Amino acid sequence: MRNGVIYGRISDDPTGKAAGVERQVDECRTLAEAASVHIVETLIDNDLSATTGKRRPSFERVLELVRAGQVDTVVIWHTDRLYRLPRDLEPIIELADDRRLRFLTVTSSEIDLNTASGRMVARILAAASAQEVEHKAERQKSASDQRAARGLPTTRPGYGYERVDGRDVVVEAEAHVIRDAARRVLASESLRAVAADLNARGVPSPGGAPWQGVTLRQMLRRPSLAGLRTHRGVTVGAFDPTLHPAILDVDTHERLLALFDDPARRRPSGGRTPKHLLSGLAECGLCAEVLGGRMHRLPPWQPKPGSKSKPVKAAYACNKCHKVRRLQAPVDELVDRVIVARLERPDAAAMFTTGDPAAAREARDAIDATDARLALAADQFADGTLTGDQLRRITEKLRARRSELEQQLTAVLPPQMPHDLVGPRARAVWDGLHIDAKRAVIRALARVIIMPAGIGRSFNPDDVRIDWHAPA
Ligand SMILES: [Zn+2]
Repeated sequence: MRNGVIYGRISDDPTGKAAGVERQVDECRTLAEAASVHIVETLIDNDLSATTGKRRPSFERVLELVRAGQVDTVVIWHTDRLYRLPRDLEPIIELADDRRLRFLTVTSSEIDLNTASGRMVARILAAASAQEVEHKAERQKSASDQRAARGLPTTRPGYGYERVDGRDVVVEAEAHVIRDAARRVLASESLRAVAADLNARGVPSPGGAPWQGVTLRQMLRRPSLAGLRTHRGVTVGAFDPTLHPAILDVDTHERLLALFDDPARRRPSGGRTPKHLLSGLAECGLCAEVLGGRMHRLPPWQPKPGSKSKPVKAAYACNKCHKVRRLQAPVDELVDRVIVARLERPDAAAMFTTGDPAAAREARDAIDATDARLALAADQFADGTLTGDQLRRITEKLRARRSELEQQLTAVLPPQMPHDLVGPRARAVWDGLHIDAKRAVIRALARVIIMPAGIGRSFNPDDVRIDWHAPA
């Protein structure tokens, strides 16, 4: 009596499914009995794809049993189940070569791997299988091509969406997280700070793990958030909005990409977000050392009644000559006021432009003109000169023009600068900026130098010097 092993595999091909692995094993058992083979083990790999190259532990076990000489017969339903691809066939041929290894197959004709011609047939079949696998992958790819060509969502919709009946539906709570993160990152808040805030607020992340800057960036980069359809990494068009609505507008998406791809943004790792507006930025007026932000106990102390601790206030201090030290609050207030006043002047745009300052000015003037025409059209509608239909058409045209101009403007500004930071809205926009962004703006505009002052003297604005950089 010979000893044998039954090997079955759950496969995704139609024949495999039709047969069912249990029936395969039953039929193998019947065959083994008829051939007087004693079955030592029945092994099954739950491997839905023979093509992924995943480990197949039961297959390995079959090889082990054969190598150890515990079995000399392998009972299979079809040779496909055991060696469909050349990479599976070769170790089996190796074993068959020096042992009298017999294969019993239920549905395919027996192939004797002990003979050269049997091995040749097996190799040809395996090669054919490999080709079929490749072809199948091609078919799957072309199915996804067709889906993509029809504007249908192909891959899983990801954070912000859920798929309902083949359509992607916005999950409002997640969309809110995305929009909020995009807005904050565009205002130059660091990804890390936004991630930390999401974690602090207990906002669940897509994978359940804590939010991280890296994963947040990956998420915000996704073109599908802006309703853009990509195929093999290239944007090929827009989704049908009824099948996949956008969460971010295309403009925001492009500004995010520009921001993430800006090399100037990459901070040395481990750098901390500064707490003070000017620490590490303002310079000492005596020795030109960069001032640090420090907590200082400054006179006159007025301890709260009953409190042992003395009041502590933040100050900028020179750690080199130790002769310059100013309370932070009044210095920050002054610099804040001066910078915003500078930003409110339209020519400040010239100080930020990375490309053509004239182009930036032109775009900004054109935006102002467009706004004026929008206002005029609204007035004309109000006093009956325009019909609602005319107003709608004019407004539509002007809005499109405006967003075009905004894009032009954004293109010549450093990506982290909101386009309306310069001009009449400067104060509101500035106040909404993250401290990182404010520092970047100050750095771009001027040097801040803090002059020495006598201890105890009240704050004198002349003690702070602001040296504007020459416009680009
Ligand atoms: Zn100094």
